[in-house]
Amino acid sequence: MTLGDDMARANFWVAIAVGCAALAPTWARAAAFDVNHATALYLAVLSPAARARSDAYFDGGLWLDAASTLITVLLCWVILRVGLLVSLRDAMRRRGWRPWVVMLAVAALFVLLLSLLQLPWSIYVDFLRERRFGLMNQTFGGWLGQQAIALALTLVAGSLVLTVINAVIRAFPRHWWLIGAGVVGVLAAFFSLITPVFIMPLFNTYTDLAPGPLRTRIVAMADANHIPTNHIVVFDASRQSDRISANVSGVGPTVQISLTDNLVNRTSLPEAAAVVGHEMGHYVLGHVWTGIAVITLLSAAQFWLLARWAPGVLAAGAWRRGVRGIDDPAALPVLVGLMSALTLLFLPLSNTSTRYTESAADAFGLNAAREPDGFALAAMKLSTYRKIAPPWWEEALFYDHPSGHTRVYRAMQWKKDHVPGAIEVVPAPLPDVKGR
Ligand SMILES: [Zn+2]
Repeated sequence: MTLGDDMARANFWVAIAVGCAALAPTWARAAAFDVNHATALYLAVLSPAARARSDAYFDGGLWLDAASTLITVLLCWVILRVGLLVSLRDAMRRRGWRPWVVMLAVAALFVLLLSLLQLPWSIYVDFLRERRFGLMNQTFGGWLGQQAIALALTLVAGSLVLTVINAVIRAFPRHWWLIGAGVVGVLAAFFSLITPVFIMPLFNTYTDLAPGPLRTRIVAMADANHIPTNHIVVFDASRQSDRISANVSGVGPTVQISLTDNLVNRTSLPEAAAVVGHEMGHYVLGHVWTGIAVITLLSAAQFWLLARWAPGVLAAGAWRRGVRGIDDPAALPVLVGLMSALTLLFLPLSNTSTRYTESAADAFGLNAAREPDGFALAAMKLSTYRKIAPPWWEEALFYDHPSGHTRVYRAMQWKKDHVPGAIEVVPAPLPDVKGR
């Protein structure tokens, strides 16, 4: 071994050492920002009582979903047993009404009966329980009034949809499940187009968002992402609840960025920008179309099962009730009862597909708004109605959005990756929501 070799070796190690020294400040900065610790600081803004409360609200809600399905199935059975649909069908046929008119009338009666029979359960789940958890801002009268509007809309839209599906069943007895799913896709596109323009204004008042820092910020973010800014509005969601949200809807000239007044009044500028960034993600990434594609595929799967399942159920008992087959208007209670059971079975699948698009919108929003701390705090504020840190399997099966913990963790990871010299923020505790 020569001196030259030693020198070369020494130089090599010196080079490594110098390299390490040069990198050291970067490492120190990165090491100083601990994603898990920063996440824990945000999770700590919830008091143990508030956390127990939102856990109870969410877990209870899962059981209520299952119970709601069971109740719907039972009510469908009751409607079938009472035989009103068969009587109406026969009376209209005797008077020579066209089949689609008979179907429309029977469907309307069915939707009306089911909605009215479900009302007591709905009063408990959607009003009393919401109020108990401090999530309801309406009086009972106000709530009931809005339910009446919703019932009128369901009556019109529900009867029409059921009549169209029935026409498909009659026209394509073998492949109705496939064509029916296509029809559902087209109807879903139609309803998602008209809902923001014609339906939402029936429940809330929309006004232009006043000029100010928030509007300026939203316009800048929209411009950067090529979103039209002709319509930036705020609506009085506080009328119903304190929930924080926003949405971007419409196509072309009807594109509208809508903020709830809760978002405007109950969050800081960074939080509001982070939430709007998320909603812009849904718009830019075309999630309306993803949603419609998913609805179409799930409908095809559910209709396929229904086409194989329903005739057996009808043969087992409903024949004696005067129901003659799945294309019979009076078969609606059987078809709708089975569909609601199938929808519950498919819930983990539809939740997962929604959660996937929500995660993509989260990632988009972090890049668009560059407000990881605002996003983390907003995610914590949503915890009043969503269990903040569920076990992984519960999130995989029952969450249609990433959990609060997942969202905060990803925001902190984003901060570590994108904010040079990121430092931890110690957020103030959230005030407890008081139930009534
Ligand atoms: Zn979303």
